[in-house]
Amino acid sequence: MHTTLIQNGTILPCVTDMREVISPGYIVIEGERIVQVEPGQPSSDLVGKCDEVISASGCAVIPGLVNAHTHLFQTFLRGLADDKPLLEWLAAATWPGALAMTEEDFYLSAKLGFMENLKCGATSVLSQDYVQTSTRNMDVVAQAAEEIGIRALLARGYADREPYREEFRETPEQVIKETQRLVKYWNHRNGGRIRVEFAPLIPWGCRGDTLQTISQLAKEWDVGVHIHVNETLPEVQMSLDEFGVRPIRWLADLGVLDEHWQLVHCVWLDEEEMDLIAKHGSLIIHNPVSNMYLASGIPKVVEWRKRGIPTALATDGPGSNNSQDMMEVLKFTACLQKVGTLNATALLPEDVLEMALWGGAKAMRLENQIGKLKPGALADIVLVNLRKAHIMPVHSAQSALVYNANGNDIDTVIVAGKVLVQNGKMKHVDEEKLLSDCQQAVERICKRGNIASKAHLFV
Ligand SMILES: [Zn+2]
Repeated sequence: MHTTLIQNGTILPCVTDMREVISPGYIVIEGERIVQVEPGQPSSDLVGKCDEVISASGCAVIPGLVNAHTHLFQTFLRGLADDKPLLEWLAAATWPGALAMTEEDFYLSAKLGFMENLKCGATSVLSQDYVQTSTRNMDVVAQAAEEIGIRALLARGYADREPYREEFRETPEQVIKETQRLVKYWNHRNGGRIRVEFAPLIPWGCRGDTLQTISQLAKEWDVGVHIHVNETLPEVQMSLDEFGVRPIRWLADLGVLDEHWQLVHCVWLDEEEMDLIAKHGSLIIHNPVSNMYLASGIPKVVEWRKRGIPTALATDGPGSNNSQDMMEVLKFTACLQKVGTLNATALLPEDVLEMALWGGAKAMRLENQIGKLKPGALADIVLVNLRKAHIMPVHSAQSALVYNANGNDIDTVIVAGKVLVQNGKMKHVDEEKLLSDCQQAVERICKRGNIASKAHLFV
């Protein structure tokens, strides 16, 4: 079995709390798992026995970040509809762009998106892909994850009712049949590194009876249910107009909410809705950059935490961010709550790391398997170079990681014991070729979709 040693680093094991630091320390990996996390220096005997030795000098060694919500196809649509609120943004570029994409485009956009996530420190990505113009669209995203080596949970998005746009709608039978096929095919290959789950897109595009059926199936198949909810005020109003109740109350009344449910955004929750989420044990996925970008609002993360609601962090799709930099998300998470509550201690760096790592592990349904550096855990590890002009001097590794570091400071990324990023570069991917293939593909999409773009200038 392949063994790897990481030595001379400042390790944040994140096992009992986010304040622990082992410096210097070393980690031994065997196959896909961590077998040792120790303070001090490894013996020369141990160094000699390991197949691969990585120096983490000047680096913080942390569990890989989890990007708990994105839409990878939007990697090709970012920058096309800047400066618009959600519903206008969907109509301006996201829908027409998605309809002009081919299977090959879904594959390439996923590959670029996974690469960006890895290079910015995310070892796990939860991508909700809801453009089912071909039954192969999800398979090619999974294939991209398989090839690139990242850990991925692919939420198979769908809408099955008006007023969601017709071209994207499916029948409930199609949704269940296709999700079942994908779960059967993907969830047990690659040691479970790539899995598929349900993803009703939004309450206003999803029938209540289908939600009840998939909620039951999610329990049987032991998979999650990933949904956008209460993102903007107009969407809350749509639920009040149609059902007379707010969206979370509607879901609770359907009897579907439970610990399988991953509620994305939750920007506009009232007190009752927060209590319902806490009572049913569902998880919230917070996307601070997207909430600012689309002017959606400031979610009450501090209130969620008071109620013990598990919370994960994410970038959201590249169309509404526009990057996939989880390091940037850490800073925005803290800063948005400070300004939202007018309280500088609303969230501390340790609180932010806890959501990104432990909340992220829960979103991936891999609690205690990832998000912690301890013997037995999966070896998903990131080395962040702190010896940089915009970071030094370091007084606290947690503060430096949340407030100073960005995606460009990611030095090494390991997923399931395999080094995927080394010295900030992809180890097994021809980055230049992928970038130019992607730019050319986007130029073709814009022509096909009749979308105004200057993509041709950048090929
Ligand atoms: Zn989203």
